[in-house]
Amino acid sequence: MSADLTEALRRWFGFGAFRPGQERVVRAVLEGRDALVVMPTGSGKSLCFQLPALMLGGTTVVVSPLIALMKDQVDALAVRRIRASFLNSTLSSDEAAQRLAQFRMGHYKLLYVAPERFRNPLFLAALRETPLAMLAIDEAHCISAWGHDFRPDYLHLGEVVAALPSNTRLLAVTATATDAVRRDIREHLRLGRNGRAEPDEIVTGFERPNLALNVTRVRTHAEKLERLLQIIEFFRTGIVYCATRKMVERVQGLLAEHGVRALAYSGAMADTERTRVQDAFMHGEAPVVVATNAFGMGVDRPDIRFVAHWDVPGSIEAYYQEVGRAGRDGAYAWCELFFNYADVRTQEFFIESANPPAEHVHELYAAIRDACGQGERGEASMSPEDWAARAGLKSSLAVRNLIALFERNGLLRRERRVGSPWSVITVPPIGDLAALRTICAGLAQKEAADRERLRELLDYVDARGCRHRFLLAYFGERTPPHPCTKCDVCHPVHAFPPRLMPDATRLTDLRKILSCVARMHSRGDYPLAAAILRGEAPDAWRALTTFGILPQASAQAIVETCEALEMDGYLAGMRLTAAGYDLAVGRGDVHPIAVFHTGRLHALTPPHTRTPPGAPAPPPDAPIPASGLATALRAWARREAERRQLPPYMVLHGRTLAAIAKKRPTTEAELALIPGMGEIKRAKYAEAILDIVRAHERPTREQ
Ligand code: ADP
Ligand code: ZN
Repeated sequence: MSADLTEALRRWFGFGAFRPGQERVVRAVLEGRDALVVMPTGSGKSLCFQLPALMLGGTTVVVSPLIALMKDQVDALAVRRIRASFLNSTLSSDEAAQRLAQFRMGHYKLLYVAPERFRNPLFLAALRETPLAMLAIDEAHCISAWGHDFRPDYLHLGEVVAALPSNTRLLAVTATATDAVRRDIREHLRLGRNGRAEPDEIVTGFERPNLALNVTRVRTHAEKLERLLQIIEFFRTGIVYCATRKMVERVQGLLAEHGVRALAYSGAMADTERTRVQDAFMHGEAPVVVATNAFGMGVDRPDIRFVAHWDVPGSIEAYYQEVGRAGRDGAYAWCELFFNYADVRTQEFFIESANPPAEHVHELYAAIRDACGQGERGEASMSPEDWAARAGLKSSLAVRNLIALFERNGLLRRERRVGSPWSVITVPPIGDLAALRTICAGLAQKEAADRERLRELLDYVDARGCRHRFLLAYFGERTPPHPCTKCDVCHPVHAFPPRLMPDATRLTDLRKILSCVARMHSRGDYPLAAAILRGEAPDAWRALTTFGILPQASAQAIVETCEALEMDGYLAGMRLTAAGYDLAVGRGDVHPIAVFHTGRLHALTPPHTRTPPGAPAPPPDAPIPASGLATALRAWARREAERRQLPPYMVLHGRTLAAIAKKRPTTEAELALIPGMGEIKRAKYAEAILDIVRAHERPTREQ
C-alpha cells in the first residue's frame, strides 16, 4: 500500500516523498474515514485531497472561498492532465451552465466551488445526482465565528453534508484552528455524527525549530530603532512588520537616516508598485522590506534571516504566519517582537473600526439612504471621511468596513465611474431592517472574537514557558520532547548583538570571530575575517563593527580557530550554523566546550593572561560584564561617528560613555556633571543620550 501511494504521488505530481502528515491524511481518506487536517500554509494541504481524489471513483467537490486562486489551481491540475474545473462568480452564466452539465456527467475528478454556490438550487440538485467521492472543505475555519475569517455561507455546508450519502468522505482542511474553531468545524460539519465514524484529526507541521523566537519590551521608538539596526546589521535580510502604513513610512525613513536601504510595502500602494517591491525583494535587490501585514502572500524567498515586529500584531495566527516567512531554507532565523503596551491601542482601534457598535451601523446607513434620497438620480458619492462626518462617526476606517459589509449584504450597490474619485452608491427603495440587525449581531460577535484573539497574543507576550511550546499548543500540535534552545524564555539572550568587549575571555573572542563572519554575509574567507578582526583589511570593511576588535591575535590563530569552529559545527564555510548563531548571540547555556578543549585558542589571548599548561581552563560561564545601557551607548556612539565620519572617540570618549552608563543621568543638568560632557558636546548629543538612558530606565533582559 505504501509503495502504491508513493508511486501514485510520483506519477501524478512528480514528488518523491510525502511531506509530514500528508500520507496519513491520504490513507485515512482512502480507508473511507472523515478527517480534519490542520497544517500551516505552504505545507501541502491541497495534495491531501487532490491525491485521493484521483485514486477514488467519482468526483471530489472542493469548497474554497479563495476565488482568485481557483483558476490557478485548476490550471496547475490541467498541466498534469487531471480533469478539473471551477464554478464561481467570475464565470458567465453560459459558462457556468456548461460546467455544471459536465459535472453531472461525472466528467471532472475535481470541481472547485465558492461557498455561495450552495445557495444555488441548480447546483444543489446537481450535487444530489452526481456520484461524489469526497467533499473537501478548504479554509474550514471560515465556518467558525471564532475564526478570523468567518463566512456565513459556510454554515450552509451543514445541511449539504446532512443530505450527502454517508459514504461520501468529508475532509476539512485549514491552516488555523484553535480548540474552539476545531470544535465548531466538527459540530457544523457533523463530523462523527449521523452514523459517521469519529474523524481522524491530523495537526502537524507547525514546529519551526530553526526560528529563534524573542519578545523584547521597549519603551520608545529610539529603543526599537536601536534594536532593529542591530538586528539588520547582524542578520541583514528580513522583513520589518508595522501595524500601519504611516508607521511603515516612518520606519523606512528612520532606517534611511541610518544608511539602511529598505523598501516599503503597504496595502495602500498601487498594484504595480506592490509587485515591483515584492520582485525587488525576491530578487535580492534590497535586503530589507518594511511592510504592513499585506506583505507576504506569495513571498517565498527562502533565505529571510529575520522578521521583526515593530508593533504588536492582532493575533497569534497573524504573528505565526508572519514569522513563518523567515528561515524557509531551514537555517537559523531570528524573530523579534518589540512589545510596548501602548501599541496594543492600535490593534484595539483596528478591532473597533472593523466592528462598529450598532448605533454607528444604523447612523451610517441612515445617512447613506438620506444622501441617496436627496441625490438627483437616487445615488451619492463621497469620500469615507465625508461619509463619516455626515453620519457623525469618528473613524473613516469604520466607514470603509461598513460600506463593504452593507454591499455584501445587499443593502447597497457600489459602482466605479470614470471621473468620480469615490465609488457611486445606490440603495434599494426599501431598507432591509432585518439585514441591518443581522449585521449588528454579527459585528458584536466578531468583536468579542477579535478581542479574545488579541488577548491570546498578549498571553503569548507574557508567556512564562517556552514560546515554541506555547505556539504548538495553541495550534493543537503535540509538543516535541526535546528541549528548546531558541526562545527568550528558555534562554534569555544576555548579549545580542554579541558584546564586543576588550576583555579577554575566550568565549568573547569566539563570539567576536563568529560575529565577524556573520557580518561578512558570506563574502570573503577566513584570512579576510582575520584581517578584519585585526584591523588590517582594506578600507571597504572598516564600517563593520567587528573591524579591529581582535588586534592582539595572530592571523594564523584566528584562521585556525575558524577551522576549529567549522570542525565543531559552528561554522559551515562563511556561514554560521544554528549552533554558531546560538553561540554568537549569547544564548544562555550553549557553550563551546568542545572548542575550549581544543587548545587552539591559546594563541588568541594576550601572553600575560595565557593559561599555563596544565592549569584548568577558565569556566565557560565566566560572567560577561557591561550593562545593556553601556552597549546601547557604545552602539550609538559608533553610529554617530559613522554618520559624522569621525573616529568614535571624537564623538565621546569611552570613559565618558562608561561614566554615563554608571551615573544614568536623566536630565541635562545631571549630564553636565559628567566629565567630558561639556557645553558643545551637550548641545550636540544631550538629547540622544538622555533618550537612550531613559529607554534603559527599567532593567532590561540584557542586564
Ligand atoms: P497549502 O495549501 O498547505 O498552503 P499547497 O497545497 O499550496 O500548500 O502546497 C504548497 C507547495 O508545496 C505547492 O507548490 C505544492 O506543489 C508543494 N508540495 C505539496 N506536497 C509536496 C510534496 N509531497 N513534495 C514536494 N512538494 C510538495
Ligand atoms: Zn523555548
